[in-house]
Amino acid sequence: MRAWIGRLASIAAIAGAGALLTGYIAGAAFAALFLFAYLVFAVAIALRARARLAGWLADPSTDDMPDDDGTWGEIYARLHRMLREQAASRASMSHALWRFRQAGEAMPDGVLVLDAGNRIEWMNPSAEGHFGITFKGDRGQAITNLIRHPAFAGYLDAQHYGEPLLLKGSGEADRVLSVQLVPYGNHEKLLLSRDVTRWERLEAVRRDFVANVSHELRTPLTVMKGFLETLSDARETDEKLFRRSLELMTGQAERMQRLVEDLLTLSRLEDSRYPLREEPVDVPALVQSVLAEAESLNRGQHRIASKVEPLWLLANREEIRSAFSNLVTNAIRYTPAGGDILVSWGNEDGAPAFRVRDNGEGIAPEHVPRLTERFYRVDRSRSRSSGGTGLGLAIVKHVLQRHQGRLEIASGLGEGSTFSCVFPAARAAPASRAVAEVTPIRAA
Ligand code: ADP
Repeated sequence: MRAWIGRLASIAAIAGAGALLTGYIAGAAFAALFLFAYLVFAVAIALRARARLAGWLADPSTDDMPDDDGTWGEIYARLHRMLREQAASRASMSHALWRFRQAGEAMPDGVLVLDAGNRIEWMNPSAEGHFGITFKGDRGQAITNLIRHPAFAGYLDAQHYGEPLLLKGSGEADRVLSVQLVPYGNHEKLLLSRDVTRWERLEAVRRDFVANVSHELRTPLTVMKGFLETLSDARETDEKLFRRSLELMTGQAERMQRLVEDLLTLSRLEDSRYPLREEPVDVPALVQSVLAEAESLNRGQHRIASKVEPLWLLANREEIRSAFSNLVTNAIRYTPAGGDILVSWGNEDGAPAFRVRDNGEGIAPEHVPRLTERFYRVDRSRSRSSGGTGLGLAIVKHVLQRHQGRLEIASGLGEGSTFSCVFPAARAAPASRAVAEVTPIRAA
């Protein structure tokens, strides 16, 4: 403002001084002419500056900004500052936007932005994967044309988006998605999706497990209840009936006890709060004691042979004992009387391995991959009648997992079976070294 007044004052002063001087020298007509010429000059300069400003405003850039002094200079300086500030705030806004987009794209959950007409405005790569669509190809498409699930159409129409919806078989056939709509702004919506396939599978396993355990317990309980009712209804004490009932009830109680013990063992093995307590285990001695126990179960029905190398193992004694004992017991239970069972322990290609081979009826190939599932049995009644809980191989699998080992099953119908526990080479300990490790060294 001050510069503008100064400029006006200087124009007025120059024009006044020129007019006075010309008037003095050549009279009033010349003075008026001079004044006119000067005003035309001043107006021309102002118009030129305005035209430059208008031209620059049509395509503003801070690089070729017109340069001037006085009031115009001040205007240009302010415009220049405003432009710089605007550019900086645009840069920071686009950076923030870029970061939001990056975060959205990195999210493991799917995010899909729908406009008021339920058409796709934006989506992240997870959403592309979940629904089998692409942002490039499907932008602007109505979501109901792409997610052709009657349940989803119903969910969208119902407009009660408080709870998520489970969608099965969207994108990939066995995938389960949890989707939820979140309305915002002016009838726009966010469609959030999460892959819950694993969680759903675990939930199904849990449901099956509870159903199986209940079923396994119900049968012996029903039998025991039946005996108890018979006994309490009997008018006189029938010694023979009483003894027989007690015997059978004891059998059922033992069956329940075995089941509960196996369940506890499994839950302990699955519980990550129980770390593996390792020690050098004298496996040859352990195998001998497992075989002695097996003999008492076998009562001479099978020929049991063993081939044991003097090799120790860094392992948890009780867990290994439980795994080996389960395999030997199975061989006895699933091999007809007169069969042969060979138990071996030793180094095979550098890896310690425990094998149980039988020449029993064997297992058809379709059952083999499922044998370690809890309660999976090839022949349910045979397993039950021989005292099986259906949890033995699940226990073996868990024990081996905790020891970084693996269970190998080679079997075929009519060919017998070989169950092998193979451990990593690093777990092998030569007998002498292992003894040195456990024998305390005493000063002479
Ligand atoms: P179970 O208590 O029923 O024996 P397991 O988990 O130990 O449970 O075994 C699962 C199933 O695997 C058994 O029911 C049986 O059908 C089969 N099986 C296990 N070991 C053998 C074997 N040596 N020969 C034939 N079948 C076997």
